[in-house]
Amino acid sequence: MNKVFGLLMVCLLSFNMAWAQEERIPAKGFAVDSKEGHFHPYDFTRHAVGDNDILIEILYAGICHSDLSSVWSEHGKSNYPMVPGHEIVGRVIATGKNVSKFKTGDYAGVGCMVNSCGECADCKADMEQSCQKGPVFTYGFHDPYHDNEITMGGYSNNIVVSEDFAITVPAGADIKRVAPLLCAGVTTWSPLHYSNVKKGDKVGVAGFGGLGHMAVQYAVRLGAEVTVFDITEEKRDDAARLGAARYVNVNNPEDLKGLDNSFDFIISTIPLPYEPFMYVKMLKKGGDLAIVGLPENSTLDITAMAFQAPNRRVYASFIGGIKETQEMLDFSIANNIYPEVEIIKADAAEIENAYKSVLDGKVKFRYVIDMSTIDKK
Ligand code: NDP
Ligand code: ZN
Repeated sequence: MNKVFGLLMVCLLSFNMAWAQEERIPAKGFAVDSKEGHFHPYDFTRHAVGDNDILIEILYAGICHSDLSSVWSEHGKSNYPMVPGHEIVGRVIATGKNVSKFKTGDYAGVGCMVNSCGECADCKADMEQSCQKGPVFTYGFHDPYHDNEITMGGYSNNIVVSEDFAITVPAGADIKRVAPLLCAGVTTWSPLHYSNVKKGDKVGVAGFGGLGHMAVQYAVRLGAEVTVFDITEEKRDDAARLGAARYVNVNNPEDLKGLDNSFDFIISTIPLPYEPFMYVKMLKKGGDLAIVGLPENSTLDITAMAFQAPNRRVYASFIGGIKETQEMLDFSIANNIYPEVEIIKADAAEIENAYKSVLDGKVKFRYVIDMSTIDKK
């Protein structure tokens, strides 16, 4: 009798494994079909859980300004239907047979990338974001490693990803506030470390939104003296609360006085057209301006005069590699550094309203969608 039961269990287990490895995974999310940007509930499927993959039940997804740009095709025509979202955190609910980093029940995060070639010099140097064959971004991109299907992001109830592109999240993390670390966190952490910002440095943070308020927290934690630049009076107190020494409303000429030649490092997260020369002039000799903001028309109007400032560097920075993302996340949680978030329901109209508020500068500082509230029907 026991033998029969044992045989039955083996058969059942093999059937389950076959399901886990071959069947596509049903998913529910919110998509837009055109640059008009109207969200609607959307049923789709994800590729099956491969041997090195994990299946994550998404708990929270952040709304990054890049999502707005992608939805509205601001940087070239996007692929539709699009399920945005590259700030993702959730719980592992299935693992492929080779997975060693995660077990069922663990928290896991996913950022802007879900794959890369793994073989080029950049991938080998932990810079998957500049993979020479092109990284596979989390949504809206063809995935050559999965029949060229178009990736679908985190405004959804689940995601399948290789464990190599998933970030471990400690059990004690304040999980509601983790998702924005996966993009806003690493995008600002990375250039601060690349430029070796240290105690006593004078740091400028231009654009005090989702990314900017993370930059302020990291720079303050590194012991820098931080100045925030934004276009509103509404955030002056918030800057002080997060530890900034000075707040500059760039629309107020008085605020801008006496700043030239005074910064070791400035990060610009500005998402709208602006003149970077203003910030180049503010750098000390040897200072760095890291540009991470991507203005909507994809062009930066930089005057040739900017290149007459000797020994100042202006460089591009783009998210961060997986190893660096893990380091940022571990550091942030160990040091209680989190984004300030406003939680919204998983609802198409709420997401559209949130987009309007991001554009109007009303959000403080990141909207996060509670994906557990998605209509399961
Ligand atoms: P947010 O909208 O949250 O924040 C942008 C902030 O910039 C807002 O506070 C806004 O003011 C402020 N701002 C607008 N114009 C100016 C100006 N002329 N001078 C100073 N401040 C200004 O956006 P995010 O932080 O989510 O993203 C910022 C940018 O970074 C986007 O372009 C996004 O696409 C890009 N990005 C780039 C990444 C990379 O790897 N390079 C990764 C992720 C994002 P107000 O609040 O009043 O509107
Ligand atoms: Zn982002």
